[in-house]
Amino acid sequence: MDVFKRFMIFDKTVLVSVIDARETVDKAIKIHSLSRTAAAALGRTLVVGAFMSEQLKDEAQKLSITVNGGGPLGRIVVLGDYGAKVRGYVENPRVELALNSAGKLDVGGAVGREGYISVIKDLGLKEPYSGRSPIIDGEIADDFAYYFTVSEQQPSSVALGVLAGDGECLAAGGIFVQIMPGCKDEWISEMEKTVANFTRVSALLKENTVDEIIEKYFSSYDVFPLPDIRPTYECTCSRSRIEQIVLSLGKDEAYDICRQNGFVELTCQFCNKKYKFTEKELDALFSCAEG
Ligand SMILES: [Zn+2]
Repeated sequence: MDVFKRFMIFDKTVLVSVIDARETVDKAIKIHSLSRTAAAALGRTLVVGAFMSEQLKDEAQKLSITVNGGGPLGRIVVLGDYGAKVRGYVENPRVELALNSAGKLDVGGAVGREGYISVIKDLGLKEPYSGRSPIIDGEIADDFAYYFTVSEQQPSSVALGVLAGDGECLAAGGIFVQIMPGCKDEWISEMEKTVANFTRVSALLKENTVDEIIEKYFSSYDVFPLPDIRPTYECTCSRSRIEQIVLSLGKDEAYDICRQNGFVELTCQFCNKKYKFTEKELDALFSCAEG
């Protein structure tokens, strides 16, 4: 089962989050039939989504992440809900590139390096929070480290990894280290040495549980634990939401499609669930909307 563990060290001036999201990414791979490269790109972004949605305080608050690097994968979209519930899609899920010169999946080449990350947080305030930062290398981890540090003024180190097999996820997750005000320079340099161990997070998570990773790298510190969270891949689509999309097509277009196909069918981008509307159902929907 996926788990997201958080704790603070160094007089609560360093927040560490360790996430195992294998099942969450596995679900995304199966829903979207992702190539390995797409699994890595979307999977890493889903881990960030789970991490960021921890800040949401209730069901009404929402998070939306777009990674648009101009590469062959197209846009990556991840939405987050309270309790680290995430869902997402990538525009071109089957794109596969040759391995890069280091013999690794070319995630940066597939995401692209000419673009931006954009984050919108609807926290129930008058205006949603919106942040944006340029893509650094398209490998997702450093792109978000830069986003947190520059756009949210939260110095952060981000390590992400997804190990995808044939149509399944073998390991996925991330380690986030964030520096809070009051952190001493010597503590920061000690953390820099620690995060240098996290260059291959997918291998680390394949061989160790989250508890073992924490034990291995953080057991020498005085740890202040925070409650665990369980990330999940969950879609929140419903027939009533899809009805709104049918209504927004307008009566003429909806009936045109219905006449051509015998029905109107819409597919949820996040979970591939299909919603079908017969002519009779359109009659009821539009007369209800007009009434
Ligand atoms: Zn859905």
